[in-house]
Amino acid sequence: MAEEMLSFAWKAYNEIGYELNTSCISQKNLIDFFPNPHQRHVFMERVVQRTPSGEETDEYLHSYPEQNKFNPFFNYELGCGEIRHCYIAHLENLLPAWRQQLKNNDQLLEEDFEVAQLIIHEDAVEYKNIKAQKIIFCDGLSSFENRFFNLLPFAPNKGEMLIVEIPGLPDHHIYKKGFVLAPLEGMGTFWFGSNYQWKFDNAEPTKEFYDQAERHLKAWLKISYKIVDHKAGLRPATLERRPFVGLHPVHPTIGILNGMGTKGCSLAPFFAKQLADHIIYNCPITPEADVKRFSKILAR
Ligand SMILES: Cc1cc2nc3c(=O)[nH]c(=O)nc-3n(C[C@H](O)[C@H](O)[C@H](O)COP(=O)(O)OP(=O)(O)OC[C@H]3O[C@@H](n4cnc5c(N)ncnc54)[C@H](O)[C@@H]3O)c2cc1C
Repeated sequence: MAEEMLSFAWKAYNEIGYELNTSCISQKNLIDFFPNPHQRHVFMERVVQRTPSGEETDEYLHSYPEQNKFNPFFNYELGCGEIRHCYIAHLENLLPAWRQQLKNNDQLLEEDFEVAQLIIHEDAVEYKNIKAQKIIFCDGLSSFENRFFNLLPFAPNKGEMLIVEIPGLPDHHIYKKGFVLAPLEGMGTFWFGSNYQWKFDNAEPTKEFYDQAERHLKAWLKISYKIVDHKAGLRPATLERRPFVGLHPVHPTIGILNGMGTKGCSLAPFFAKQLADHIIYNCPITPEADVKRFSKILAR
């Protein structure tokens, strides 16, 4: 569903950016530096693709003719290709601006939600002094421990990243060689990551990742750089790599929008709209994402 998801996300982030008066998304192509001959071969094999109507197109993957263009900045012995139609969601702008708007409108309580205090009635929910028709949990990892949804097959995944200042590196592309270097808004600063860890003791940044990432940067970049931050996070991933969207089959006053794993930025706008349309107009939710597929488990 990439085409549908990405065009939806592009429109949604632009609309929210317009409303919040900030830049929430930009389009950048990705330069894929081949880390080994096999990857190069796989990329080249896929350059020409067929559209659903059978026409040949190289709209997404492109053999990049200006192979030497990035020589001043990177070491890359095996060449590069270009992936088009990539986007960067500027969460660093979106999240604080959205939080501020909610606060201005008196629509946000900045406190920990305590699920134990939630009272479920047949056609309403009650939490402290608030009564509502429904409650929707968009609480990421906390749903793993939430008594309504903790039986869902979540499979949290840890990832780490660095913020790196690289003065002089053009910010008109995203760069990839195993790891990704993505330009942040603001001159010369890049996001560098990430890894995928299925086994971990905590959500803290590790020295192992820092050392590995630094070695990678040293070998890849020809120009000077400075690591200014190191962060880690847990992705709310799921065993079958599909989101959890919809209303609880036993308690239809409770909803969920979660399980977007490694792809929350691209999937969230699309599925948030589906969930809203489902609640208001009873429109269907994509079956692969509908939490209804776990009706038996959630009825336990
Ligand atoms: C290193 C890394 C790299 C990633 N790269 C990408 C990428 O390139 N593209 C992409 O699309 N996605 C990426 N992701 C994944 C993306 O960040 C997630 O899919 C997305 O954040 C999930 O959104 P969410 O709103 O479901 O959950 P979260 O972002 O986890 O948000 C849940 C929110 O609920 C709040 N909350 C939880 N419990 C409570 C409570 N009891 N009371 C009050 N508030 C509560 C939390 O504080 C949090 O703010 C990456 C993740 C990581 C860690």
